[in-house]
Amino acid sequence: MELKINLPENVKYLINKLTNSGYKAYAVGGCIRDSIMGLEPNDWDICTSAEPDMIVSVLGLPTIIKNGLRHGTVTVRFNGESYEITTFRTDGVYSDNRRPESVTFVTDVREDLSRRDFTVNALAYNETDGLIDCFGGLDDIKNRMIRCVGDPDKRFAEDGLRLMRAVRFASCLGFEIEEKTAQSIHNNRELLKNISAERITSELIKLLCGRNSEKILTDYPDLIGVFIPEILPMVGFSQQNPHHCYDVWIHTVKAVSFIEREPLLRIAALFHDIGKPDCFTADEHGTGHFHGHPKRSAELARDIMTRLRLDNKTIDDSEVLIKLHDLRPPAKDKNVRRLLSKTGKELFPKLLSLKKADALAQSSYMRAEKLRYIEQLRKVYEKVISSGDAYELKMLDINGKDLISSGMRPGKDMGSVLNELLSRVIEGELPNEKQTLLKAAQEIRNSLS
Ligand code: ATP
Ligand code: MG
Repeated sequence: MELKINLPENVKYLINKLTNSGYKAYAVGGCIRDSIMGLEPNDWDICTSAEPDMIVSVLGLPTIIKNGLRHGTVTVRFNGESYEITTFRTDGVYSDNRRPESVTFVTDVREDLSRRDFTVNALAYNETDGLIDCFGGLDDIKNRMIRCVGDPDKRFAEDGLRLMRAVRFASCLGFEIEEKTAQSIHNNRELLKNISAERITSELIKLLCGRNSEKILTDYPDLIGVFIPEILPMVGFSQQNPHHCYDVWIHTVKAVSFIEREPLLRIAALFHDIGKPDCFTADEHGTGHFHGHPKRSAELARDIMTRLRLDNKTIDDSEVLIKLHDLRPPAKDKNVRRLLSKTGKELFPKLLSLKKADALAQSSYMRAEKLRYIEQLRKVYEKVISSGDAYELKMLDINGKDLISSGMRPGKDMGSVLNELLSRVIEGELPNEKQTLLKAAQEIRNSLS
């Protein structure tokens, strides 16, 4: 059966324009893979026998040139979209496991496909020639298999990022990794040391959010451990506690797979117990405890996330989630307000997500109670939010200006007074009402001086 791929009109136009000027042109790579799988491609890349200056002059479109003409990638803007158009090329020598020193333009698409990472990505298509598949990519898509084009050891040595791309594709597409490729990933894992944190992190986040992250994290802690060595002590670390039926790493992997597929949550789940091995004690019955592990996990996580060059908001938010993940105060208004003062409104439901994923990744002992408790917290949260209870300074019915008009001098005491007022309002000891708060402020001030 002839395989038919629906190319978008823009892509057809660009391919036709190049073809009409006597060049070969194809849609290539991930977009073909995704189309065959019935998925919506992220972007449509084009490859062509035209060299960069000819791409520019034949298309006559606004153009951005990436990595210089020498490397052969031209980005064109067309109908409000960007398309990467790359000249057929083979890569020269890789001396640093990162980038080829030079590229050579070639005229045959097959040669271009041979430099691509995995068979499922080494596919090209146009309406005249149909699918160009010289490495069995179509079969591998059908068999759901990630396999290097050519010798895995060589291909990973050329570019260490491919190690992460392999596990990322396996996780996101739900594919297996072919045996030789898998073995080579384990053997060559240290090559990741040559790759920048930014590039690794972007693959890691996709991997974590993939549908098959559970299998990949279970099978490849050694690979992740090359750039996050802090996870390695979790692997095989027995918890010796009735609440747990998995070692710390498998518990972590399960928590990641139970939580929503959103980067912040998946990252927080990955690191929520990373401090456990440092905090282990066994009591006289031989039961394991991990006192202080949320704080230790949060510290380690901040270090790791900074090193991974994650953005500050993700770092700050996951630190809060990790620190609070194991608190279990009674589901009362004031306890929820106290938690809200640390998380804010948006992050609180994410804390509940983490607590839930954590509970689901534990043994079945008391699981129903744990889940019921989390739902109680959620109800109280909704009530507290809808009744407008104050849980942060800006929600107090009084501010610094009010204190100044009542005769207080600006200074650091004023901050202490406001915080004390807030804490009494949160505890339900004071109503959030201006006159009462002003009076209480006087008393607090007197007690400070
Ligand atoms: P997605 O866009 O869904 O992340 P993709 O397969 O399109 O997946 P891109 O990073 O957009 O991935 O790369 C486009 C194509 O370029 C790939 O399909 C592959 O053929 C090739 N490619 C990308 N990175 C590499 C690499 N490091 N080594 C070899 N080939 C690569
Ligand atoms: Mg792509």
